[in-house]
Amino acid sequence: MALKILILGGTSHARLLAERIAREARFEGLLSFAGRTASLQRPEVPHRVGGFGGVDGLSELVRTHGFNALIDATHPFAARMSESAVRAAAIVGVPLLRIEDPAWGRVAGDRWHEVSNMAAAAAGLGAERRRVLLTIGRQEVDAFRAAPQHAYLVRAIDPFPLPLPDAQLLLARGPFALTDERRLLEREAIDVIVSKNAGTPATYAKIAAARELGRPVIMVQRPELASAETVANVDAALAWLARLHDGSGTLRGE
Ligand code: NAP
Repeated sequence: MALKILILGGTSHARLLAERIAREARFEGLLSFAGRTASLQRPEVPHRVGGFGGVDGLSELVRTHGFNALIDATHPFAARMSESAVRAAAIVGVPLLRIEDPAWGRVAGDRWHEVSNMAAAAAGLGAERRRVLLTIGRQEVDAFRAAPQHAYLVRAIDPFPLPLPDAQLLLARGPFALTDERRLLEREAIDVIVSKNAGTPATYAKIAAARELGRPVIMVQRPELASAETVANVDAALAWLARLHDGSGTLRGE
């Protein structure tokens, strides 16, 4: 019997895992998206879009569809979803695995100012007017209304109304290359970047470019997530799923 797997997505790990799972008869996957981006690139594997309705909704879905495993492959800043996953897995009694890129580490030449949230990032820009590249998505741009003296270039996937007096939107979807990021910082005369510590290789080039050009980065640290068994890549997740499949003589529902 196939192992039924619910994958909480939003990252490239989630897509890749869902594609690899779809090729194997012993697995049956469903990839779930929050539905944050209007221009969602729909995968060719079974998927769904939209919230579950909190812990209760997720528990109910896992139970009624008979999922045998839950994979949390959301963004490291998606703390609410990760919390729901930990609680629903405990309630229903299914194993949970998180896939997460390790946080980026500071290396020689980096000029990072680490902060714990967006309000601190806005305050950290200082009183003097600066040209800021904001690469935090769109959900928390409001926090920078507290620092209206700066000129912002806001990079996002979908257009949205900017709540800042001096701001421009730059529509783009990663991965980003180092030469392009270097060119962007120079062309736009960016003084400082604000970034979340996503840990994703696909968005690291801006950090490397800032280092090369000696520009500071305000790095927003990750929220603390409810604890869960964690691996760093899709191969490790597949190995975990294979062990689960082979070791589960009686899968739930059998
Ligand atoms: P969140 O705040 O943890 O999630 C909020 C709600 O969205 C969840 O409670 C859940 O709704 C729904 N949700 C989230 N991920 C879902 C999924 N894969 N499938 C179904 N429903 C899902 O996370 P977020 O709003 O997605 O993002 C929080 C932060 O992470 C933002 O700063 C965002 O920019 C960043 N981020 C997230 C992702 C991602 O993978 N989602 C990707 C890039 C950046 P219910 O409670 O109704 O179930």
